[in-house]
Amino acid sequence: MPEVFVDLVGQPEAVDLLRRAAAAAETIRAAAVAESVAPDGTGPAVGDDPAGGTPDVAGAGSAMTHAWIFTGPPGSGRSVAARAFAAALQCLRGTGCGECAGCHTTLAGTHADVRFVVPEGLSIGVGEMRALVLRAASTPSGGRWQVLVIEDADRLTEAAGNALLKAIEEPPPRTVFLLCTPSTHPDDISVTIRSRCRVVALRQPPAEAVAAVLRDRDGIAPDVAVWAAAAAQGHVGRARRLARDPEARKRREAVLALPRKLTGVGACFDAASALIEAAEAEAASAVVEADAAERAALETALGAGGTGRGASGAIRGAAGQLKDLERRQKSRATRAQRDALDRALVDLAGFYRDVLTLSLRAPVEPVHTDVAGMAGSAAAKWTAEGTLRRLEAVLGCRTAIETNVKPRIAVEAMMLALWRG
Ligand SMILES: [Zn+2]
Repeated sequence: MPEVFVDLVGQPEAVDLLRRAAAAAETIRAAAVAESVAPDGTGPAVGDDPAGGTPDVAGAGSAMTHAWIFTGPPGSGRSVAARAFAAALQCLRGTGCGECAGCHTTLAGTHADVRFVVPEGLSIGVGEMRALVLRAASTPSGGRWQVLVIEDADRLTEAAGNALLKAIEEPPPRTVFLLCTPSTHPDDISVTIRSRCRVVALRQPPAEAVAAVLRDRDGIAPDVAVWAAAAAQGHVGRARRLARDPEARKRREAVLALPRKLTGVGACFDAASALIEAAEAEAASAVVEADAAERAALETALGAGGTGRGASGAIRGAAGQLKDLERRQKSRATRAQRDALDRALVDLAGFYRDVLTLSLRAPVEPVHTDVAGMAGSAAAKWTAEGTLRRLEAVLGCRTAIETNVKPRIAVEAMMLALWRG
């Protein structure tokens, strides 16, 4: 297994920063161990002594601190960076060798002292956050660090954010908080949390770096890797999916065929319906298996068909728990639909951007190399201003959906704007 930061594509500065932090963390830990060794030399008492003699992790001037925010555009590797850093902190041999048990279990998500919060719905609730913060405050069982990784920290509710803030303001001595958000804008993360964290800003990885990873690590043919990296616009996961999954390619092709179909008002509404329904179908296929598995697991846990001693008592709360599960699954399905729709809109924006660069003869590489012909004929037909208005209509649609405009209404308005130009 290669070292833990190898999946963080095109981010040499961030990797350097995190490695130095992990090395500093190890120094802090070793100092704490040395201090807590009993005078008679009976050995370290780290596991039993969370308060006494443990230096403050947030110590001034250190490369290490107790709270971090990873920011960057979607696909830049925020959660990959957080996970790799967590592994580096738990590494038994250095700063993320990728081979020891600490690295291995962290990356696999099974390390006892590393918890990942991956909100599947639209937000993380306060109850969940309080429980997590409480657990994160316990003494690390492996004697190193308790790490709480919160992916999509921008989806925290205000109350959950406050519960987290309290923990970050008065951090337990061996707890490290890793938050991932698109940016440090107050819409994404509260100013007070931001002020307590060190920010690691990831950039959109260059297409060449993404293509190189697909080629060298995933064994994808060089020409496919180059095409997928460009089409995915710096989103590593998306590039990998486009290169490997024929269904994902088909969906993208259907989206890129839309601009040509907008020949009248009726066609615009048809196109909007097609886009919405495709997003719904994609989302449904993504969550259906997880939904069924979770329901089965919960039913088993609740003792359906069980005869054990706890079974009858458990069933009393069963209806409520099933209802709660259904609510969370519905919320996850909504999120999956929005994500699918957003991917389609990003593809569409890439097309209009290509048309615009052709109109302006801008010396930049196109996003969608495989539909360059279509972009060329559009560039010959439309004015640059008209193309820019279309690009703005797509971006406006994304913003509208983000601010909770009903997706169908936002997409219909966008299609009409794309047709009128
Ligand atoms: Zn290791």
